[in-house]
Amino acid sequence: MTTSAPVLVINAGSSSVKYRLIIPASAEVLADGTIERIGEHGGEVSHETGGETHSGDHTAEDIGAALELITEQFATYGPDLGQLDLLAVGHRVVHGGPDFARPTKITDDVLATIRDLSGLAPLHNPAAVAGIEAARQRFGDVPHVAVFDTAFFAELPEVARTYAIPRELAARHRIRRYGFHGTSHDYVAGVARESIKAAGPVRQITFHLGNGCSAAAILDGRPVETSMGLTPLQGLVMGTRSGDVDPGLHSYLHREAGLGPDDVDTLLNKESGLKGLAGVNDFREVLQRRADDDHDAALAFDVVVHRLKHYLGAYWAILGGLDQVIFTGGIGENSPDLRAAVADGLAGLGLAVDPDRNATAASEARLISADDSAVAVLVVPTDEELAIARQTAALAADD
Ligand code: ADP
Repeated sequence: MTTSAPVLVINAGSSSVKYRLIIPASAEVLADGTIERIGEHGGEVSHETGGETHSGDHTAEDIGAALELITEQFATYGPDLGQLDLLAVGHRVVHGGPDFARPTKITDDVLATIRDLSGLAPLHNPAAVAGIEAARQRFGDVPHVAVFDTAFFAELPEVARTYAIPRELAARHRIRRYGFHGTSHDYVAGVARESIKAAGPVRQITFHLGNGCSAAAILDGRPVETSMGLTPLQGLVMGTRSGDVDPGLHSYLHREAGLGPDDVDTLLNKESGLKGLAGVNDFREVLQRRADDDHDAALAFDVVVHRLKHYLGAYWAILGGLDQVIFTGGIGENSPDLRAAVADGLAGLGLAVDPDRNATAASEARLISADDSAVAVLVVPTDEELAIARQTAALAADD
């Protein structure tokens, strides 16, 4: 293996595939691409390399065809994968269930286990399985590694991962709080810890706020709480997901509205969150409508903030105090309004955001709290692909 050998990172979703070719040690990105709307009308492909972006239409019907398209993009626009001494392929997999507590080299057995976990993540794992299968066919002579969103939280303390339901039932059906976005929480918390010289264990709260949103409480690099649970539906308000609701809502909707389990699942995963409250799932549109005095958008913003404060306070209590709050993800990195609203009124917890620092846009990790804020507030751009590439390279090097 050479240290300059790149890793291809693949993130296969139900209707899109994102990919990135990265040199793990230097973090250099050799190519970056997305295939959107797979199997739908108006498919778009974009491939960026050497400072140029090549965009076009596609008619890929499934993930196998999308992988073929990725190979074509490399062949047409470069870099030439044949010349590059590809080290490995790293796959983002959402749910590792109780089986995978760390990145894992993919064998037929591992793939079968990931497929078996689809019951726990029906919206996510089947796409990852299809992506892995197609990629193993295309790039069969290098190791493939699965990096799980749940793995960082495998170590959640028992008290945090246990639902108060009969224990035997929970054990039989693998019901526990798993947590998601672990690669991102772990990565941004690690970056933020580099900026602190603490005498004792560092107490951090990370907010990953993108289309999916989650919070984590991290003590000295180890997770002690997180907002997502058995599935990525629990916790914060998201683009189309409700986050926390009364569990009694399911049977109530069944009795009162005649909805079956799949209807409720679709309602809470795809029709709720910002979309359910404001009619749009994109946070930028919510901000725009709120600025135009749309009441529903203003309420949606306030509900999002209220929930974030709720978790911030809870995690402050669980951590026994706080050293750093970290915002990441498309919303967390780019919305000063949201960050200011979350921090507003928290002087009692020793937390004060500096308005100028908060308003300054940048693509690097940065401090946005005031100099006299006891709690450091940071914006740290997440880089799940780099984290996956590094974890993949570390495993591939074990060969
Ligand atoms: P994903 O979870 O799919 O990776 P992202 O992390 O890219 O998604 O986050 C997408 C969200 O970030 C969208 O709701 C989008 O509106 C929001 N977002 C992106 N840029 C901005 C911005 N400048 N201001 C506010 N929100 C933004």
